[in-house]
Amino acid sequence: MRKLQAPRGTLDVLPPDARRRLDVVAIAGEVLGRAGYEPMETPVFEDTELFARGVGESTDIVQKEMFTFEDNWYAGLFFRHEAPQAGRFWQFTQIGAEAVGSDDPTLDAELILLLAEIFERAGTGPARLRLSSLGTPETRADYLEELTRFLRARESELSEDVRARLDQNPLRAFDADHAGTQAVMAEAPRLVDRLTPDDREHFETVKAFLGGVGVDFEEDSTLVRGLDYYTRTVFEFESERLGAQAALGGGGRYDGLVEELGGQPTPGVGWAAGVERMLLASDRPGDEGPVDVFVALADGGASRNGFFMVQRLRQAALRAELEQAGRGMKGQLRHANRIGARVVLIIGDGIEVKDMETGEQRVAASVEDALGMVEELLA
Ligand code: AMP
Repeated sequence: MRKLQAPRGTLDVLPPDARRRLDVVAIAGEVLGRAGYEPMETPVFEDTELFARGVGESTDIVQKEMFTFEDNWYAGLFFRHEAPQAGRFWQFTQIGAEAVGSDDPTLDAELILLLAEIFERAGTGPARLRLSSLGTPETRADYLEELTRFLRARESELSEDVRARLDQNPLRAFDADHAGTQAVMAEAPRLVDRLTPDDREHFETVKAFLGGVGVDFEEDSTLVRGLDYYTRTVFEFESERLGAQAALGGGGRYDGLVEELGGQPTPGVGWAAGVERMLLASDRPGDEGPVDVFVALADGGASRNGFFMVQRLRQAALRAELEQAGRGMKGQLRHANRIGARVVLIIGDGIEVKDMETGEQRVAASVEDALGMVEELLA
C-alpha cells in the first residue's frame, strides 16, 4: 500500500505538509498556552448589536461580562479573494492571538515575543521585525493631512507614480525607489514624531520591553497595516526566505475597535500569522518519526490475528501498523524497513518477533510473550 504523499516544493493537503501544518498549530498552542492564552473557536469580535439583539442590551452580558480581560488564541481557515501567487492563496490557515481588555504595554511586547518564539520553534529562519506606533486615529488623520500638504509643496520633485496617488495614499511615497522622491521623504514629517505624549510613552515602553528581552526590531514609521482600526503599536515580521509575499505575520493594537462596533471602550492587541507562509519558510521536516512495530502476515497468517495484535500494541501506547496491502513477505519486510519499524511481528501459524536492527528472529510462545519481547527490544 502506498500512502498518499505531496511532492516536494509545494504545499499540499497531503502528507507531509498536512502534518507540518498540525505541528505548527501544536507549537503555537504550546507557546501560547504557557503564557495563559486559552484556545478559542469563536470570532474575536462580533458586533455588539448581535449580542444585544440576542440577550437584551441592559443585561450583564452586554454591560459587564463582554469586556473583561481575555487572552485567547485560535487557528483556522481563512479565505481571501486576492490574485493568487507564491505565498498568497484563496484558502490559507491563520493562527492568531488576541488580548482584549487592557492597554498595558507588556501585552504588546509579550504578544510580539510569543510570535517570535513560535517562528523560531517552527524553524522559519531569520525574520525582520518592523515596528511602529500609529497613535490615535485623530493623530493619524492630522498627520496624513500634514504629509499631503508637505508632498504637494514639493510635488515637482516626486515621481509620477507617487504624484498620481498622492491623495489616495501619501504614505506610499516612503517606499518609492525614485531618487528624487527619496530625497524629499528624508525630510518628510514622520507620524511617530506627532504622537501624543501618552502614545509616545506607550511606544517607548513597548520598545524598552522588547529591547530588554533581546528582541531585535526596526522602527519603521512607514509601516501601515491593511485595516485602519489599528491604534498605537503595529508590527510585522517579514521572512528573508520568502519572495514578494514575505509577511509571516503581524498585528497591533486596536483600542478603538470594540467601541466602533458599538461596545464599551475596550482596548485590545493581537496578531495573525500565516501557517502556509511559515511552512514555505521553514526548514523543519514533517517527518512522522519511526514506527515501533510493523505486523506482517506470513503465508497462511490470518489477518484477523494481525488485526487483534495491532490493537494490543496500540493499547500499549506503541506506534504500530498492520500489513493491509496484500504484499508478499519480502515486500512487507522492505516496507517495514522503509517506514523505519524497529520490530516486525510475523503472524503465521504462530508469532515470530524480528529485531530489524540485528535481523535476529525469535519465536514467541503467545501473544503476551510477543508483547514482552517487543517491549524489551524497544526499551
Ligand atoms: P494580515 O492580517 O493580512 O496581515 O494576515 C496575517 C498573515 O496571514 C500574513 O502575515 C500572512 O502570513 C497570512 N496571509 C494573509 N493573506 C494570505 C493569503 N492570501 N495567503 C496566504 N497567507 C496569507
